[in-house]
This record gives sequence, structure tokens and C-alpha cells, in this order.
Amino acid sequence: MPDSEQLRRILERIDGRGYKAYKDVQGSYDFGSFVLHIDHVQGDPFAAPSKVRVRVPQRVAELPPELAGNAVRRVALEDFLARTVSRAIRATVGGRRGTGKSGLIAVDAGGQEVIERTAVVVTPDWVEARLEVGLPAAGRRVLGRQAEAMLCDEMPRIVEQGLLWRNLPQQSAQRFVECIENFEHIRGSLEERGLIAFVADGAVLPRESGASDRPLNAKEAVAFQSPESFRVTMDLPNALPAGERAITGMGIPKGVTLIVGGGYHGKSTLLNALERGVYPHIPSDGREYVVTSRDAVKIRAEDGRRVERVNIDPFISNLPYGRSTAAFSTDDASGSTSQAADIIEALEVGAKVLLVDEDTSATNFMVRDARMQALVHKEHEPITPFIDRVRELYVGHGVSTILVMGGCGDYFDVADHVIMMRDYLPIDASADARALVRDHATQRRAETTTPMPQNTARIPLAESFDPSRGRRDVKIDAKALDLILFGTEAINLRGVEQLVDVSQTRAVGHAIHLAVERFMDGNATLREVVDRVDRFFDENGLDALDPFHRNARHPGNYARPRKYEVAAAINRLRSLRMRQDTS
Ligand code: ADP
Ligand code: MG
Repeated sequence: MPDSEQLRRILERIDGRGYKAYKDVQGSYDFGSFVLHIDHVQGDPFAAPSKVRVRVPQRVAELPPELAGNAVRRVALEDFLARTVSRAIRATVGGRRGTGKSGLIAVDAGGQEVIERTAVVVTPDWVEARLEVGLPAAGRRVLGRQAEAMLCDEMPRIVEQGLLWRNLPQQSAQRFVECIENFEHIRGSLEERGLIAFVADGAVLPRESGASDRPLNAKEAVAFQSPESFRVTMDLPNALPAGERAITGMGIPKGVTLIVGGGYHGKSTLLNALERGVYPHIPSDGREYVVTSRDAVKIRAEDGRRVERVNIDPFISNLPYGRSTAAFSTDDASGSTSQAADIIEALEVGAKVLLVDEDTSATNFMVRDARMQALVHKEHEPITPFIDRVRELYVGHGVSTILVMGGCGDYFDVADHVIMMRDYLPIDASADARALVRDHATQRRAETTTPMPQNTARIPLAESFDPSRGRRDVKIDAKALDLILFGTEAINLRGVEQLVDVSQTRAVGHAIHLAVERFMDGNATLREVVDRVDRFFDENGLDALDPFHRNARHPGNYARPRKYEVAAAINRLRSLRMRQDTS
């Protein structure tokens, strides 16, 4: 294998030549304490940056094996290392060095959530970071000296500071890994305790601003405190920094739970934290011990979205002019039909908890009050409102709901638990709500006429997906957190609120392609397809999604999506065609 001196010589030789000359550096170089793999060289300074890996043997990195001793710990350690590499890059790299992406070195480190990602890989034998490098150019000419500084001088410093145990903040690493393991342990015990979520005492739920996911500063934030009647204690596998081996907080039981309270008292903030609680968070986030069932899905209205052959009949039937809702399709859903489809689609792929906020719901979907029932007769109202299905969802289908509802007390009739937010703190209002149900009967009548049927399975048709664009057979990009370009189609994910990292979005785009190629055989239902994608990730790792499999062996910028978000993206593809499985 050539060494770093040979890399220097190549860069000196191609200095000043046309940008294509950079192709000569593709290959692997022995740097003594690590190997630099230049896997893919960009075509020009403005193209997607070059792809590089640095692989360090464990005899050099010396990461303690116990920090990667099981799958949860390994994912946490890899995530932590992506952050230390990112910090090392910021401390080392000089900034822009010419045209286009010249001078860039980047690693795909995460935000507040900790998610399985491909940026760093830890094995018993080595640790590897995957980086993007903008090979520097003046105009379109190779800047060989600058490239030499980046690859031969800065890169070893990044490796030293970002990946070698002796230079890492060891206590933070330990705490980080233990925190994630604690989180997963709590999640693992929710089920046996009959809970669907846990919010630790002392948690900081509000964020800095609508545009920042960091915690609100400690002076302004009111720390969470569980009401006594909801308080539970969770044992922890790893002691907290102060030494405790258990943590107390609010356990939200299965069933129908309302979050009520005055406007601006923190209802949505609590629900948002629960939505994000499907992922672990970094220590110091404030939500690191907010833990939600893996199978919790945010439901909302999203008018304008596409819907393909969804049986929304449990919620909407008898549309004007006899239009069927048992296989309902539209290119432009209304608020209520989109919310109905969102629920049915979530149930279809296995959701066990629905998270609903009145702020993002269609009012007519949520409830029809007594006066409206009197004015508009049921035979002229296609909607069976959520209030008339929410108990049945739980009792008949085992699906719990957590619902923010400040505006309609009719929901007291159908709630198991009522949590009232007052001045950002929760109070158990269940007894008061029950008393009101007894003493102030609602005038409204339940509107269900038929029981909710089992879900109608749908089979996605592979031929309705086309990932090609121009001369490329497969062209799939994540343009933003909420936008995938799949071939020539844009998949709008603005209503998919539990997608939290653009690298998840990217993975979703490529996972759809994988699903089409491998799993959509004309018989597999959507549920089976997304379950297989999930199993594929378990068995092969996210790396196997690599769109560059011909010229580079790593993507380095995927984060793992849940099956719910993969399904949500498929469901929003405008070209999607489904067959209902009526067998
Ligand atoms: P609601 O849904 O009840 O109307 P929100 O959850 O939207 O209220 O919260 C209103 C405002 O209060 C937001 O700006 C939010 O950041 C802030 N907030 C929420 N919870 C807390 C808290 N625990 N401490 C301080 N501020 C909070
Ligand atoms: Mg709100």
C-alpha cells in the first residue's frame, strides 16, 4: 500500500493541472497509525464532495471494548465519536480554500437525537470515520499544496483528536453511552409496567426557539415534575452522575390520555417531547429521559397530500355523490380526510400509540358537538369523529392515544387519564374530569354505527415507482429534512414530524428504492415491505443502502429511519399505486 509520502508526491505532481487529475489520488494510503481511503473523487469543485474514510486499528485508537459491548452501546459510541470528529474538524480545518467546496472537511454528526448512523463505525478491530472532503481548486485547477495540507497534515490531526481514546473526553464518552443505555432500558420496561411513555422529573422540555432544537436556558425553563398519582420509579443499569441507580418521573399508562390546560401552558411542548421520545437524546438535551414507545406515531391533518386506496371508512363514509371511502384516493386530501388516512396508514404498519395535537388537527375530524349534531344530520355528515373511535381503538385494537385537547371537554367521556398543564407543570385532573362527566353530561350523541374493521392491507405496486432522472437510472436525493427527490418526483414530508435528521430522510429515499427492488413482489403488503426494510437494516446495517456501491464502499451520511417514516414517505409519493388485499 502506498504511504502518505507517495500521496504528497502525487499531489505535488498534479498541482495546477485540470481538476480531473485529482482522480489520480483515488486509493488507499498507509499513514502509519491509520489508513486513509480515498474512495470517490468528485468530478469538479462544485460537485458533491469527495468521499474519504480514515480507519484506525484499535491497538492505536484503544477505545474501551465495554463502551461498544452491545448493540445499543455501540450505536451510542459511534454517535459520540461522530461528534468528537466533528469537533476535531472544527478545531483543525482552515476553512474555504478556493472555488466551490474547496477546503471542506465534514462528518455527518447528529443533532440532539442519537440515531444509528453510518458516519462512524466501531468494530473490535478498528474504528472508522467517513468524511466528505472538498478537494481544493483555483477555478478548475488542482490546488495540490492545499490538498496536501488537508489530507496529509489536517487529517492526521483530526484522527488524533477525534478518534484516539487518550485524547477524548473520556468521562463524557462514558456518560453518553450509559445515558443511551439507560434510555433503552427504560423503554424496554415500559411494556411490562403497562406504560407507553415516561417523562423524568427534572426533564427540560421547552426548546430555545422554534428554529432551535437546543434546550431553553435553565433560567427560563420550568423543569418537569411528575404529579404524584402518575409517578413511577425506573431502575437504571448505569448510575446517574450523582450516583442514583433509579429515576422517578411521570409514567403515561396505556389507554386514552388527554393533555388539557390553558393556552400557552405547555401542552404542545409536552407532546412534542413525547414525539421525539421515540429517539434517545444526548446528555444535556433536557429530554434524555423522556422515553416513548417505539411504536408511537404523530398524527396530524395535512391537507393537499396524496392518498392512495386507503380504507378511511371507519372515519369517513357516505361522501357526496356516493364516492367510496373503502379505497379512497385523492391527489388533494382535505384536513379531515388527510388525518383519517394518517391514522389508518399508521395502524396499517403497526402503530401502537397515536400522538395527536389539537393545534395540528382538523376540528371537524376531532368532534361534532351537540348543536352541530342537531343542525347537520348524521346522514349528511360523512365524518365519524375521532372522539367516537378513540376508545374503540384502545379497547378493540390495543392502540393508545395521547391527545392534546384544550378546547373540547366532550373528550372527558372517552379518556382514561387527564393531565392538566398549569404553568408548565402537570397536574392529575382525571378525578375532576370524571366528576364533570357524571354531573355535567354532554349533550352530544356517539356517532358510530358500525365497529371499526380490521385494517385493509394494501400491496404497493413496484411499477408505480420510478427513480430515474435524465440519463441516470437511479437519482434519489434528500433536498431537506422534509423533501426527497425520487427520480423526477418530489416527496413532501412536511407532515411527517418524527423525521428529525436529514440523513434519515436520505436513508428513507434509498430505502424506498431498496424496497421496490427487493421486497415489492406484487404480493407483499406495505406492512411486510417496511418490516423487511427494518430487518434488512438489522441484518446488513445501513451501509448496505449505499447508492455508490460501484465506486465507493460507504455513504457515511445515513441515519436510520423508523419503519413508520419509511411508510409515510411511500404513502406520500404522488405516483404511488396500491392494490387492496381483499383475500
Ligand atoms: P400550549 O400548547 O399549551 O398552548 P406550548 O406548549 O406551545 O403551549 O408552550 C407555550 C410556550 O411556553 C412556548 O414558547 C414554550 O417554549 C414555553 N414553554 C413550554 N413549556 C415550558 C417550560 N416547562 N418552561 C418554560 N417555558 C415553557
Ligand atoms: Mg398547543
